Amino acid sequence: MTPIVFMAGEVAIYYAARLPKLRQRGNRWRGPCPIHGGKSDNLSVDAKTGLWRCWSGCGRGGDIITLEIALTGAAFLEAVTAIEGIVGRVLLERPTNRAEVRRAAEAAARDRRELQAAEHFKLATEQAYELVLEELPEASPERYPPTQALLEIRTAQGPELLAMYRDWHKREPDLTAALVYAGERAWNRLCFQLARFIDAGAEVPYAA
Ligand SMILES: [Zn+2]
Repeated sequence: MTPIVFMAGEVAIYYAARLPKLRQRGNRWRGPCPIHGGKSDNLSVDAKTGLWRCWSGCGRGGDIITLEIALTGAAFLEAVTAIEGIVGRVLLERPTNRAEVRRAAEAAARDRRELQAAEHFKLATEQAYELVLEELPEASPERYPPTQALLEIRTAQGPELLAMYRDWHKREPDLTAALVYAGERAWNRLCFQLARFIDAGAEVPYAA
């Protein structure tokens, strides 16, 4: 099952309906996280893809479907149906029998799990890219192929990032698992530091 991709207009309609108090900052929307009941602007949404992140408190994140599930407690297909009602488009062909329903739910759960791993993979890759450039001044993308690979992962988003992660995982499972672990730890550290920063009354002006 391919991940459900939202058009920019649909992203705007969905967030206007569900979280009307978000404010625009550059290419993102910011506001209090509704999942853990945050008070400061700890929720950050990419206005193009609808991917979201909480920068303190719960530290959760994901796509529009993950958000709908987190907000309403609905199961996957119920959440998709609710989102279809909001954006006015059929997003998913419905399975017709029980085995198909189970397969669709398993595929969706795997997509969500792997997208989360892919985001940590990307975070670790961002750090590796900086390190490589520092250690090897000659490592330009044209001259040093691994730099090109790191650069591509670093800029990938959503379904494209997921495809890259799966490709790496197939070819280099140990390396990929180590990167995901490193990225997860870096993410947790960042959330912890930001939470302390915000608790101290500081503004987070912009977090990409
Ligand atoms: Zn939160």
